[in-house]
Amino acid sequence: MPINKEYILKARERIDKIHSENKHLEEQRRAEILQKIPRFIDLEIKLADTASNVISLIAANSPNIKEKIKKASEENLAVQREMERLLTENGYDKNYLDQIYTCAKCGDTGTVNGEWCECLKKSANKLAAEELNKHSPLNLCSFESFRLSLYPEQSNNGDNPREEMKKVLQICVDFAENFKGSEKGLLMIGGTGLGKTHLSLAIAAKVIEKDFCVVYNSVPELLRTIDNEQFGRSTGDTLSVISECDLLILDDLGAENVNERNASRLYEIINGRICRSLPMIVSTNLSPVELTNNYSDRIISRLFTMKTLAFKGDDNRFKL
Ligand SMILES: [Zn+2]
Repeated sequence: MPINKEYILKARERIDKIHSENKHLEEQRRAEILQKIPRFIDLEIKLADTASNVISLIAANSPNIKEKIKKASEENLAVQREMERLLTENGYDKNYLDQIYTCAKCGDTGTVNGEWCECLKKSANKLAAEELNKHSPLNLCSFESFRLSLYPEQSNNGDNPREEMKKVLQICVDFAENFKGSEKGLLMIGGTGLGKTHLSLAIAAKVIEKDFCVVYNSVPELLRTIDNEQFGRSTGDTLSVISECDLLILDDLGAENVNERNASRLYEIINGRICRSLPMIVSTNLSPVELTNNYSDRIISRLFTMKTLAFKGDDNRFKL
């Protein structure tokens, strides 16, 4: 997948920062141990001596080389064991002084065998997603602030919207809590002011907290951004970011201009993610009948492969 170079450079800066923070932590730990266990200084010298002894024996190729190397290696191991023993005796983990890496795969260098490491790509994607999310109020909504009391317990047709919304809320909480990046998506259907945006923002916040890459955007804005990039009015590769992120949240489907270009782009986005089992949340103010009238069969058939959540009640924005 092509990743914008600007984000790769920024991601590299992030990884470099993590690398130096880890080095700093290693130094702090070593200073702490040398102060608490002074014998460690002698052991460190001894460890370095035994290691260089092994190396010079290999280089010298002297008689009885195998036996000598074996003996020197055993001495080296014995010093390491002694250090581990001292650490555990003083209440530390035996690996307390090991090198610290946030990504063990690349050792926080960002590359493996000359290729970008997954951690670098992931970080670049997240930066691109953050840019796309910058106008979304991701920190304003939570599950805790979702007020079920705003939904009536009885509606004109005899339903109990509060009870129905309690189930919807639970499905959203479970989706966010158990998010792994391969679950079936959610299709949120219902009129304005019924909490669709609130719950999708709450899911986004929770899933981001779990270190996944989430893009949240309204359908009209997203299509505008992609258009601008395609026609050279702005730079970026939004199509790649939204096809690769762990969770794509498309708000307000149906509010975009209805034309062939938008319809085929929407199909490309929705179908692309569903085919690769990448989750999505799509919310719309349109009823199922309106959806069917506004979109082609191929989009409708994809949309309804997701779990449909019907939002019921009266417009809560006036009650708030
Ligand atoms: Zn890495």
